[in-house]
Amino acid sequence: MNRTKSEYLYEEALKHIVGGVNSPSRSFKAVGGGAPVFMSKGQGAHFWDVDGNKYVDYLAAYGPIITGHAHPHITQAITEAAANGTLYGTPTELEIKLAKMLKEAIPSMDKVRFVNSGTEAVMTTIRVARAYTKRNKIIKFAGCYHGHSDLVLVAAGSGPSTLGIPDSAGIPASLAQEVITVPFNNAEALHAALEKWGDDVAAVMVEPIVGNFGMVMPKAGFLEDLCRLARQYGALVIYDEVITAFRFHYGSAQTYEGLANHEAIKPDLTALGKIIGGGLPIGAYGGSKEVMEQVAPLGPTYQAGTMAGNPASISAGIACLEVLQGEGVYEEMERLTIRLTDGIADSAKRHGIPLTINRIRGSFSTHFCDHPVTDYDEAQDTDGEVFGAFFRNMLNRGVNLAPSKYEAWFLTTAHTDEDIDFTLEAVEASFKEMASK
Ligand code: PMP
Repeated sequence: MNRTKSEYLYEEALKHIVGGVNSPSRSFKAVGGGAPVFMSKGQGAHFWDVDGNKYVDYLAAYGPIITGHAHPHITQAITEAAANGTLYGTPTELEIKLAKMLKEAIPSMDKVRFVNSGTEAVMTTIRVARAYTKRNKIIKFAGCYHGHSDLVLVAAGSGPSTLGIPDSAGIPASLAQEVITVPFNNAEALHAALEKWGDDVAAVMVEPIVGNFGMVMPKAGFLEDLCRLARQYGALVIYDEVITAFRFHYGSAQTYEGLANHEAIKPDLTALGKIIGGGLPIGAYGGSKEVMEQVAPLGPTYQAGTMAGNPASISAGIACLEVLQGEGVYEEMERLTIRLTDGIADSAKRHGIPLTINRIRGSFSTHFCDHPVTDYDEAQDTDGEVFGAFFRNMLNRGVNLAPSKYEAWFLTTAHTDEDIDFTLEAVEASFKEMASK
Protein backbone atom coordinates (compact mmCIF):
# COMPACT_ATOMS: atom_id res chain seq x y z
CA MET A 1 0.00 0.00 0.00
CA ASN A 2 1.26 3.47 -0.85
CA ARG A 3 2.00 5.59 2.14
CA THR A 4 1.47 9.31 2.02
CA LYS A 5 4.44 11.52 2.75
CA SER A 6 2.67 12.65 5.94
CA GLU A 7 2.53 9.03 7.10
CA TYR A 8 6.21 8.58 6.32
CA LEU A 9 7.14 11.82 8.12
CA TYR A 10 5.02 10.85 11.12
CA GLU A 11 6.96 7.57 11.44
CA GLU A 12 10.20 9.54 11.28
CA ALA A 13 8.93 12.14 13.75
CA LEU A 14 7.93 9.41 16.22
CA LYS A 15 11.55 8.25 16.31
CA HIS A 16 12.87 11.65 17.32
CA ILE A 17 10.13 13.82 18.81
CA VAL A 18 8.03 12.63 21.68
CA GLY A 19 4.69 11.51 20.26
CA GLY A 20 5.82 12.90 16.92
CA VAL A 21 4.44 16.35 17.75
CA ASN A 22 5.64 19.39 19.63
CA SER A 23 2.26 20.08 21.18
CA PRO A 24 -0.16 17.27 22.06
CA SER A 25 -3.13 19.05 20.52
CA ARG A 26 -1.52 18.51 17.10
CA SER A 27 -1.78 14.74 17.36
CA PHE A 28 -4.83 12.96 15.96
CA LYS A 29 -5.30 10.99 19.18
CA ALA A 30 -8.68 12.61 19.90
CA VAL A 31 -10.01 11.87 16.40
CA GLY A 32 -9.13 8.20 16.14
CA GLY A 33 -5.33 8.35 15.87
CA GLY A 34 -3.01 7.92 12.92
CA ALA A 35 -0.65 10.31 11.19
CA PRO A 36 -1.45 14.00 11.44
CA VAL A 37 -1.16 15.88 8.16
CA PHE A 38 2.21 17.57 7.79
CA MET A 39 1.75 20.98 6.24
CA SER A 40 4.48 22.54 4.16
CA LYS A 41 3.12 25.93 3.15
CA GLY A 42 0.52 28.40 4.28
CA GLN A 43 -0.70 31.31 2.21
CA GLY A 44 -3.72 33.42 3.10
CA ALA A 45 -6.61 31.16 4.12
CA HIS A 46 -4.92 28.10 2.59
CA PHE A 47 -2.50 25.35 3.47
CA TRP A 48 -0.65 22.86 1.27
CA ASP A 49 0.48 19.58 2.76
CA VAL A 50 3.68 17.68 1.98
CA ASP A 51 1.77 15.55 -0.55
CA GLY A 52 0.65 18.63 -2.47
CA ASN A 53 -2.99 18.66 -1.26
CA LYS A 54 -4.60 22.05 -0.71
CA TYR A 55 -6.82 22.93 2.27
CA VAL A 56 -8.95 25.82 3.46
CA ASP A 57 -7.67 26.45 6.97
CA TYR A 58 -9.90 27.18 9.96
CA LEU A 59 -7.34 26.26 12.61
CA ALA A 60 -5.44 29.55 12.24
CA ALA A 61 -2.73 27.93 14.38
CA TYR A 62 -5.20 27.80 17.31
CA GLY A 63 -5.94 31.50 16.99
CA PRO A 64 -2.94 33.71 16.23
CA ILE A 65 -3.17 33.70 12.42
CA ILE A 66 -6.11 36.12 12.20
CA THR A 67 -4.75 37.81 9.07
CA GLY A 68 -4.17 34.49 7.25
CA HIS A 69 -0.85 32.83 6.58
CA ALA A 70 2.13 34.86 5.39
CA HIS A 71 0.32 38.19 5.32
CA PRO A 72 2.62 40.47 3.29
CA HIS A 73 2.54 43.33 5.81
CA ILE A 74 3.57 40.99 8.63
CA THR A 75 6.15 39.15 6.54
CA GLN A 76 7.75 42.47 5.63
CA ALA A 77 7.83 43.58 9.26
CA ILE A 78 9.50 40.33 10.33
CA THR A 79 12.02 40.48 7.49
CA GLU A 80 12.98 44.05 8.33
CA ALA A 81 13.29 43.23 12.01
CA ALA A 82 15.45 40.19 11.30
CA ALA A 83 17.76 42.22 9.06
CA ASN A 84 18.47 44.53 11.99
CA GLY A 85 19.31 41.72 14.40
CA THR A 86 16.89 39.27 15.95
CA LEU A 87 17.69 39.71 19.64
CA TYR A 88 19.39 42.52 21.54
CA GLY A 89 19.00 41.94 25.25
CA THR A 90 18.49 45.70 25.55
CA PRO A 91 15.26 47.66 25.46
CA THR A 92 14.03 48.78 22.03
CA GLU A 93 11.66 51.51 20.87
CA LEU A 94 9.43 48.94 19.18
CA GLU A 95 8.39 47.49 22.55
CA ILE A 96 7.00 50.86 23.60
CA LYS A 97 4.96 51.07 20.41
CA LEU A 98 3.26 47.69 20.90
CA ALA A 99 2.74 48.34 24.63
CA LYS A 100 0.96 51.62 23.77
CA MET A 101 -1.21 49.91 21.16
CA LEU A 102 -2.27 47.27 23.71
CA LYS A 103 -2.98 49.84 26.40
CA GLU A 104 -5.10 51.96 24.07
CA ALA A 105 -7.16 48.95 23.05
CA ILE A 106 -7.42 47.46 26.57
CA PRO A 107 -7.61 50.37 29.04
CA SER A 108 -7.52 48.20 32.20
CA MET A 109 -3.82 47.75 31.52
CA ASP A 110 -1.86 50.76 32.83
CA LYS A 111 1.38 48.83 32.58
CA VAL A 112 2.41 45.94 30.38
CA ARG A 113 5.19 43.35 30.38
CA PHE A 114 6.01 41.16 27.35
CA VAL A 115 6.79 37.46 27.73
CA ASN A 116 7.06 34.62 25.21
CA SER A 117 3.84 32.64 25.46
CA GLY A 118 0.34 32.66 26.84
CA THR A 119 1.44 30.12 29.43
CA GLU A 120 4.08 32.48 30.78
CA ALA A 121 1.68 35.41 30.79
CA VAL A 122 -0.95 33.55 32.83
CA MET A 123 1.61 31.99 35.16
CA THR A 124 2.97 35.41 35.98
CA THR A 125 -0.41 37.03 36.58
CA ILE A 126 -0.99 34.40 39.25
CA ARG A 127 2.37 35.14 40.86
CA VAL A 128 1.66 38.87 40.82
CA ALA A 129 -1.82 38.39 42.30
CA ARG A 130 -0.40 36.20 45.06
CA ALA A 131 2.31 38.76 45.79
CA TYR A 132 -0.15 41.63 45.84
CA THR A 133 -2.78 39.95 48.04
CA LYS A 134 -0.34 37.88 50.11
CA ARG A 135 -2.72 34.95 49.66
CA ASN A 136 -2.19 31.55 48.03
CA LYS A 137 -5.26 30.08 46.39
CA ILE A 138 -6.76 30.72 42.99
CA ILE A 139 -10.21 29.97 41.70
CA LYS A 140 -10.62 28.90 38.10
CA PHE A 141 -13.45 27.57 35.98
CA ALA A 142 -13.86 24.00 34.74
CA GLY A 143 -12.81 23.57 31.14
CA CYS A 144 -11.02 26.89 30.82
CA TYR A 145 -7.47 26.29 29.60
CA HIS A 146 -4.78 28.65 30.85
CA GLY A 147 -1.58 27.12 29.48
CA HIS A 148 0.53 24.35 30.92
CA SER A 149 1.99 25.83 34.11
CA ASP A 150 1.48 23.70 37.21
CA LEU A 151 -1.30 25.58 38.95
CA VAL A 152 -3.66 25.88 36.01
CA LEU A 153 -3.38 22.28 34.81
CA VAL A 154 -5.78 21.24 37.47
CA ALA A 155 -9.03 20.09 35.83
CA ALA A 156 -8.04 22.00 32.70
CA GLY A 157 -9.88 21.85 29.39
CA SER A 158 -8.60 22.03 25.79
CA GLY A 159 -5.73 19.59 25.16
CA PRO A 160 -5.78 17.79 28.50
CA SER A 161 -9.50 17.10 28.52
CA THR A 162 -9.46 15.93 24.95
CA LEU A 163 -6.81 13.40 25.88
CA GLY A 164 -8.74 12.41 28.98
CA ILE A 165 -6.10 13.67 31.42
CA PRO A 166 -7.86 15.85 33.93
CA ASP A 167 -4.61 16.47 35.80
CA SER A 168 -1.09 16.18 34.47
CA ALA A 169 1.38 13.87 36.16
CA GLY A 170 4.26 15.70 37.77
CA ILE A 171 2.17 18.26 39.61
CA PRO A 172 2.37 17.90 43.39
CA ALA A 173 -0.96 17.28 45.10
CA SER A 174 -0.05 20.03 47.54
CA LEU A 175 0.00 22.52 44.65
CA ALA A 176 -3.30 21.29 43.25
CA GLN A 177 -4.83 22.04 46.62
CA GLU A 178 -4.17 25.71 46.00
CA VAL A 179 -6.59 25.65 43.07
CA ILE A 180 -10.34 25.62 43.32
CA THR A 181 -12.32 24.78 40.20
CA VAL A 182 -15.94 25.85 39.79
CA PRO A 183 -18.34 25.58 36.83
CA PHE A 184 -18.31 28.42 34.30
CA ASN A 185 -21.41 30.62 34.18
CA ASN A 186 -22.28 29.68 37.76
CA ALA A 187 -22.01 32.63 40.14
CA GLU A 188 -23.57 30.65 43.01
CA ALA A 189 -20.81 28.06 42.86
CA LEU A 190 -18.22 30.83 42.83
CA HIS A 191 -19.90 32.47 45.79
CA ALA A 192 -19.89 29.17 47.71
CA ALA A 193 -16.18 28.65 47.00
CA LEU A 194 -15.39 32.17 48.19
CA GLU A 195 -17.48 31.65 51.33
CA LYS A 196 -15.38 28.62 52.14
CA TRP A 197 -11.88 29.68 51.13
CA GLY A 198 -12.24 33.43 50.50
CA ASP A 199 -9.70 34.51 53.10
CA ASP A 200 -6.94 32.79 51.18
CA VAL A 201 -8.03 33.40 47.57
CA ALA A 202 -5.57 35.58 45.68
CA ALA A 203 -7.44 35.65 42.40
CA VAL A 204 -10.41 34.48 40.41
CA MET A 205 -9.18 33.63 36.94
CA VAL A 206 -11.39 33.25 33.89
CA GLU A 207 -11.52 33.24 30.11
CA PRO A 208 -14.13 36.04 30.00
CA ILE A 209 -15.41 34.56 26.75
CA VAL A 210 -14.44 30.90 26.67
CA GLY A 211 -12.42 29.61 23.74
CA ASN A 212 -11.36 26.23 25.08
CA PHE A 213 -14.50 24.14 25.33
CA GLY A 214 -15.91 25.65 22.22
CA MET A 215 -16.75 29.33 22.08
CA VAL A 216 -18.96 30.11 25.04
CA MET A 217 -20.33 33.49 26.04
CA PRO A 218 -20.73 34.38 29.69
CA LYS A 219 -24.41 34.55 30.66
CA ALA A 220 -25.78 38.06 31.24
CA GLY A 221 -24.49 39.31 34.58
CA PHE A 222 -21.98 36.50 35.15
CA LEU A 223 -18.82 38.60 34.76
CA GLU A 224 -20.37 41.40 36.81
CA ASP A 225 -21.11 38.89 39.60
CA LEU A 226 -17.65 37.39 39.27
CA CYS A 227 -15.92 40.77 39.66
CA ARG A 228 -18.20 41.88 42.49
CA LEU A 229 -17.79 38.64 44.44
CA ALA A 230 -14.01 38.50 43.95
CA ARG A 231 -13.67 42.05 45.26
CA GLN A 232 -16.04 41.43 48.14
CA TYR A 233 -13.64 38.72 49.32
CA GLY A 234 -10.48 40.72 48.62
CA ALA A 235 -9.36 38.66 45.60
CA LEU A 236 -8.08 40.05 42.30
CA VAL A 237 -9.75 39.30 38.96
CA ILE A 238 -7.53 37.89 36.23
CA TYR A 239 -8.82 37.68 32.66
CA ASP A 240 -7.08 35.22 30.40
CA GLU A 241 -7.56 36.93 27.06
CA VAL A 242 -4.93 34.89 25.23
CA ILE A 243 -7.54 33.82 22.67
CA THR A 244 -10.08 36.61 22.97
CA ALA A 245 -7.92 39.74 22.63
CA PHE A 246 -8.37 41.18 19.13
CA ARG A 247 -10.44 38.15 18.10
CA PHE A 248 -13.92 39.76 18.04
CA HIS A 249 -13.08 43.42 17.56
CA TYR A 250 -10.10 45.75 17.88
CA GLY A 251 -9.91 45.31 21.65
CA SER A 252 -10.61 42.41 23.95
CA ALA A 253 -13.55 40.66 25.61
CA GLN A 254 -13.53 43.18 28.45
CA THR A 255 -14.23 45.96 25.94
CA TYR A 256 -16.39 43.97 23.51
CA GLU A 257 -19.75 45.54 22.69
CA GLY A 258 -21.39 42.10 23.04
CA LEU A 259 -20.80 42.37 26.79
CA ALA A 260 -22.49 45.11 28.81
CA ASN A 261 -21.17 47.16 31.76
CA HIS A 262 -17.51 47.42 30.82
CA GLU A 263 -16.71 49.30 34.00
CA ALA A 264 -18.27 46.55 36.15
CA ILE A 265 -16.38 43.75 34.41
CA LYS A 266 -12.96 45.36 34.44
CA PRO A 267 -10.22 42.96 35.61
CA ASP A 268 -7.17 43.74 37.74
CA LEU A 269 -4.83 41.73 35.53
CA THR A 270 -5.04 40.54 31.94
CA ALA A 271 -3.00 37.86 30.18
CA LEU A 272 -2.47 38.09 26.43
CA GLY A 273 -0.82 36.03 23.69
CA LYS A 274 -1.55 34.59 20.23
CA ILE A 275 -2.85 37.41 17.95
CA ILE A 276 -0.70 40.12 19.54
CA GLY A 277 2.40 38.38 18.13
CA GLY A 278 1.13 38.13 14.54
CA GLY A 279 2.17 34.47 14.39
CA LEU A 280 5.49 34.69 16.23
CA PRO A 281 5.96 33.61 19.86
CA ILE A 282 4.65 36.15 22.33
CA GLY A 283 2.71 36.71 25.51
CA ALA A 284 2.02 39.77 27.59
CA TYR A 285 0.39 40.63 30.84
CA GLY A 286 -0.74 43.89 32.30
CA GLY A 287 -2.97 45.56 34.81
CA SER A 288 -3.39 48.50 37.09
CA LYS A 289 -0.27 50.48 37.92
CA GLU A 290 -0.53 49.58 41.60
CA VAL A 291 -0.70 45.85 40.97
CA MET A 292 1.92 45.82 38.22
CA GLU A 293 4.38 47.69 40.40
CA GLN A 294 4.78 44.40 42.29
CA VAL A 295 6.95 43.22 39.39
CA ALA A 296 10.76 43.40 39.32
CA PRO A 297 12.71 45.65 38.98
CA LEU A 298 10.13 47.87 40.76
CA GLY A 299 8.76 45.28 43.16
CA PRO A 300 9.55 41.98 44.85
CA THR A 301 7.87 39.68 42.29
CA TYR A 302 10.44 38.21 39.93
CA GLN A 303 9.75 37.54 36.26
CA ALA A 304 12.25 37.73 33.39
CA GLY A 305 12.94 36.51 29.86
CA THR A 306 15.92 36.38 27.51
CA MET A 307 13.64 36.34 24.46
CA ALA A 308 10.96 38.63 25.91
CA GLY A 309 10.12 41.59 23.70
CA ASN A 310 12.33 40.36 20.86
CA PRO A 311 12.16 42.65 17.82
CA ALA A 312 10.78 40.03 15.42
CA SER A 313 7.78 39.08 17.62
CA ILE A 314 7.08 42.68 18.53
CA SER A 315 7.29 43.83 14.90
CA ALA A 316 4.99 41.03 13.78
CA GLY A 317 2.55 41.97 16.53
CA ILE A 318 2.51 45.63 15.56
CA ALA A 319 2.01 44.75 11.90
CA CYS A 320 -0.81 42.34 12.74
CA LEU A 321 -2.65 44.95 14.81
CA GLU A 322 -2.17 47.48 11.99
CA VAL A 323 -3.95 45.11 9.61
CA LEU A 324 -6.74 44.66 12.17
CA GLN A 325 -7.18 48.45 12.38
CA GLY A 326 -8.37 48.36 8.76
CA GLU A 327 -11.89 49.55 8.00
CA GLY A 328 -14.55 46.84 8.26
CA VAL A 329 -12.10 44.00 8.91
CA TYR A 330 -14.10 42.39 11.72
CA GLU A 331 -17.45 43.02 10.02
CA GLU A 332 -16.26 41.12 6.94
CA MET A 333 -15.02 38.17 9.01
CA GLU A 334 -18.39 38.14 10.75
CA ARG A 335 -20.34 38.30 7.47
CA LEU A 336 -18.48 35.27 6.12
CA THR A 337 -18.85 33.41 9.41
CA ILE A 338 -22.62 33.93 9.44
CA ARG A 339 -22.82 32.56 5.89
CA LEU A 340 -20.74 29.59 6.96
CA THR A 341 -22.57 28.78 10.20
CA ASP A 342 -26.01 29.24 8.60
CA GLY A 343 -24.97 26.85 5.85
CA ILE A 344 -23.56 24.27 8.27
CA ALA A 345 -26.71 24.41 10.40
CA ASP A 346 -28.95 23.93 7.32
CA SER A 347 -26.88 21.03 6.13
CA ALA A 348 -26.92 19.31 9.53
CA LYS A 349 -30.70 19.71 9.72
CA ARG A 350 -31.15 18.28 6.23
CA HIS A 351 -29.25 15.15 7.21
CA GLY A 352 -30.76 14.79 10.70
CA ILE A 353 -27.46 15.37 12.51
CA PRO A 354 -27.92 17.08 15.90
CA LEU A 355 -25.64 20.11 16.03
CA THR A 356 -25.28 23.16 18.25
CA ILE A 357 -23.25 26.06 16.89
CA ASN A 358 -21.90 28.78 19.19
CA ARG A 359 -20.84 31.76 17.07
CA ILE A 360 -19.14 34.90 18.28
CA ARG A 361 -18.36 37.26 15.41
CA GLY A 362 -15.66 35.61 13.25
CA SER A 363 -15.27 32.46 15.31
CA PHE A 364 -17.52 29.58 16.26
CA SER A 365 -17.65 26.08 17.62
CA THR A 366 -19.58 23.04 16.46
CA HIS A 367 -20.98 20.70 19.12
CA PHE A 368 -22.58 17.46 18.03
CA CYS A 369 -25.47 17.43 20.48
CA ASP A 370 -29.08 18.57 20.76
CA HIS A 371 -28.69 20.89 23.74
CA PRO A 372 -27.10 24.29 24.30
CA VAL A 373 -23.44 24.46 25.37
CA THR A 374 -22.91 27.01 28.14
CA ASP A 375 -20.46 25.19 30.42
CA TYR A 376 -17.89 22.42 30.37
CA ASP A 377 -20.28 19.62 31.37
CA GLU A 378 -22.49 20.44 28.41
CA ALA A 379 -19.45 20.65 26.11
CA GLN A 380 -18.29 17.23 27.26
CA ASP A 381 -21.76 15.77 26.74
CA THR A 382 -21.37 15.83 22.95
CA ASP A 383 -20.55 13.12 20.45
CA GLY A 384 -16.78 12.81 20.01
CA GLU A 385 -17.12 9.97 17.52
CA VAL A 386 -19.38 11.98 15.26
CA PHE A 387 -16.92 14.87 15.53
CA GLY A 388 -14.05 12.52 14.63
CA ALA A 389 -15.92 11.31 11.54
CA PHE A 390 -16.75 14.88 10.56
CA PHE A 391 -13.15 15.99 11.06
CA ARG A 392 -11.81 13.23 8.78
CA ASN A 393 -14.47 13.77 6.16
CA MET A 394 -13.64 17.47 6.04
CA LEU A 395 -9.90 16.86 5.94
CA ASN A 396 -10.30 14.45 3.03
CA ARG A 397 -12.28 17.11 1.22
CA GLY A 398 -9.67 19.82 1.74
CA VAL A 399 -10.82 21.60 4.92
CA ASN A 400 -8.45 21.79 7.88
CA LEU A 401 -10.05 21.92 11.35
CA ALA A 402 -8.55 21.44 14.80
CA PRO A 403 -8.48 17.71 15.66
CA SER A 404 -10.59 18.11 18.79
CA LYS A 405 -14.30 18.52 19.47
CA TYR A 406 -13.48 21.31 21.92
CA GLU A 407 -11.63 23.65 19.59
CA ALA A 408 -13.05 26.59 17.67
CA TRP A 409 -13.12 27.42 13.97
CA PHE A 410 -11.38 30.73 13.30
CA LEU A 411 -12.03 32.88 10.26
CA THR A 412 -9.26 35.20 9.09
CA THR A 413 -9.12 38.39 7.07
CA ALA A 414 -7.92 36.21 4.18
CA HIS A 415 -11.04 34.01 3.88
CA THR A 416 -13.34 34.79 0.93
CA ASP A 417 -16.82 33.88 -0.25
CA GLU A 418 -15.19 31.29 -2.49
CA ASP A 419 -13.64 29.61 0.55
CA ILE A 420 -17.03 29.55 2.26
CA ASP A 421 -18.69 28.04 -0.85
CA PHE A 422 -15.97 25.39 -1.01
CA THR A 423 -16.30 24.63 2.71
CA LEU A 424 -20.09 24.38 2.58
CA GLU A 425 -19.87 21.88 -0.28
CA ALA A 426 -17.45 19.83 1.82
CA VAL A 427 -19.81 20.05 4.82
CA GLU A 428 -22.81 18.93 2.75
CA ALA A 429 -20.91 15.99 1.27
CA SER A 430 -19.51 15.03 4.69
CA PHE A 431 -22.87 15.10 6.46
CA LYS A 432 -24.44 13.17 3.58
CA GLU A 433 -21.82 10.46 3.87
CA MET A 434 -22.03 10.39 7.67
CA ALA A 435 -25.85 10.14 7.60
CA SER A 436 -25.72 7.24 5.15
CA LYS A 437 -23.63 5.09 7.53
N1 PMP B 1 -4.69 30.77 27.76
C1 PMP B 1 -5.59 30.44 26.84
C2 PMP B 1 -7.01 30.94 26.97
C3 PMP B 1 -5.23 29.65 25.75
O1 PMP B 1 -6.15 29.30 24.85
C4 PMP B 1 -3.89 29.21 25.64
C5 PMP B 1 -3.41 28.36 24.48
N2 PMP B 1 -4.34 27.72 23.74
C6 PMP B 1 -2.97 29.60 26.63
C7 PMP B 1 -3.41 30.38 27.67
C8 PMP B 1 -1.54 29.17 26.56
O2 PMP B 1 -0.88 29.88 25.56
P1 PMP B 1 0.47 29.30 24.92
O3 PMP B 1 0.09 28.06 24.18
O4 PMP B 1 0.95 30.42 24.04
O5 PMP B 1 1.41 29.03 26.03
